[in-house]
Amino acid sequence: MGQDNIKLWDGACRHLKETLPKDIFDKWIAVIQCREIKENQAILVVGNDFYQSWLEEHYLPLIKNALAVVSGRSFELKLMVDYSLLAEPQEEAESAKEKVRSILTSKRAPETKTNLNKNYTFDSFVVGPSNQFAHAASMASAQSPSRPYNPLFIYGGVGLGKTHLMQAIGQFILTKKTRGKVCYTTSEAFLNEYIEALQTNSLAKFRRKYRTVDALLIDDIHFLAGKDRLQEEFFHTFNAIFENHKQIVMTSDRPAGELNGLAPRLVSRFEWGLVVELESPDVETRVAILRKKCEQLDLSIDQGLLFYIAERISSNIRRLEGALIRVASYVSLTGQQMDQAKLEYLLRDTLDQEKKHAISIESIQKTVAEHFDLRVGDLVGPRRPKNIAWPRQVAMYLSRTMTDNSFPVIGNAFSRNHATVVHACKTVEREQAEDLKLRQTLSLLRQRVGHLAQAK
Ligand code: ADP
Ligand code: MG
Repeated sequence: MGQDNIKLWDGACRHLKETLPKDIFDKWIAVIQCREIKENQAILVVGNDFYQSWLEEHYLPLIKNALAVVSGRSFELKLMVDYSLLAEPQEEAESAKEKVRSILTSKRAPETKTNLNKNYTFDSFVVGPSNQFAHAASMASAQSPSRPYNPLFIYGGVGLGKTHLMQAIGQFILTKKTRGKVCYTTSEAFLNEYIEALQTNSLAKFRRKYRTVDALLIDDIHFLAGKDRLQEEFFHTFNAIFENHKQIVMTSDRPAGELNGLAPRLVSRFEWGLVVELESPDVETRVAILRKKCEQLDLSIDQGLLFYIAERISSNIRRLEGALIRVASYVSLTGQQMDQAKLEYLLRDTLDQEKKHAISIESIQKTVAEHFDLRVGDLVGPRRPKNIAWPRQVAMYLSRTMTDNSFPVIGNAFSRNHATVVHACKTVEREQAEDLKLRQTLSLLRQRVGHLAQAK
């Protein structure tokens, strides 16, 4: 950034320093880095998204005003996040930043040479009814790799602990005397390495690396779906390891049999050993997970609030942790007590996402079928007369706009392919732009679906 602009930003800061209480300035303004000013735009950077949203909500107009005062021009402000900022603290606001930094970095993966996240151990994994079978199976396969639990196939939704459990297995094996070569990789990284090996003529090396391990932990295997060449390669990797009586652990977002575009010979191999599911944790387990996290991060948060968070965020443990970190950052940055109203405000985005989650494609199908006097079976069935085709399109459109599901997932739920869903969404969008009655119908359907979700 040029000298003039540096002066400009310094001037604005000085102005703010004079107008704001010192602790506010230290906490919220001193942490901002001005990265660039061009024409009438200033690009400001902060170290995490918590600062970003807080500043956007509370201080942007003041900063804008300060810049205008010192320059005589008006600026548009763009506030961005650069996580590396927290790694180089400035003098001011040191202790608050220190604390937030330690919270954030302990969350991010401190990776060891084996690229296993040190935090993902059996010790830090909270066991409850939703995961006890998966946990027991993982322990067993870690204790006696290559025995009856081979391969171990762990599946479940996003953020339910698949990667954690899988890495715990790896870590456990590495603590044993007999530890061998443990290899953790994601299916995507496996693909990238494979492509690189092809390009650099080093396929032999690539194969040696993967086929001679004592335990292969391969994450997010659903990524293989539809990638034939990769499946072919993995098929041989799998066989080599299996025939050597070495352990294979896989994770997936759904059972192997439900992965579209996975070769049958792989599906059957994936089901040879033990298949276990991770389900959404119940509220007690969620509270226990939050308590454990507080312990790890050395946070003290009111138990009532923990319960409040746990009650409202149920679909995804990563999201649960994110909420806790947000609350903890707030408390340590502002030094203020947390209460229910503040909590609701701080977590509003997450809570919105949770509501979205509570709405299922099935509940939409049910509501739409009822409204058009059809059966759900009609909507998902093969027939396509107009009196069914239209409600089906409406239901697809609502599924896309009211839930987080992807086109293929919605397609699946209607026994159609994803292009059909894309087409349905476009059609309904186009029609409603010109059709008031349709807009009213959609609004009514949305309300009913919403009520169903709340009643759950
Ligand atoms: P997935 O791989 O299924 O998407 P992760 O294994 O990445 O999910 O888990 C998401 C986050 O939730 C991680 O930080 C993990 O440590 C945490 N987590 C998940 N399950 C548990 C559990 N039972 N106990 C403690 N932490 C958990
Ligand atoms: Mg994962």
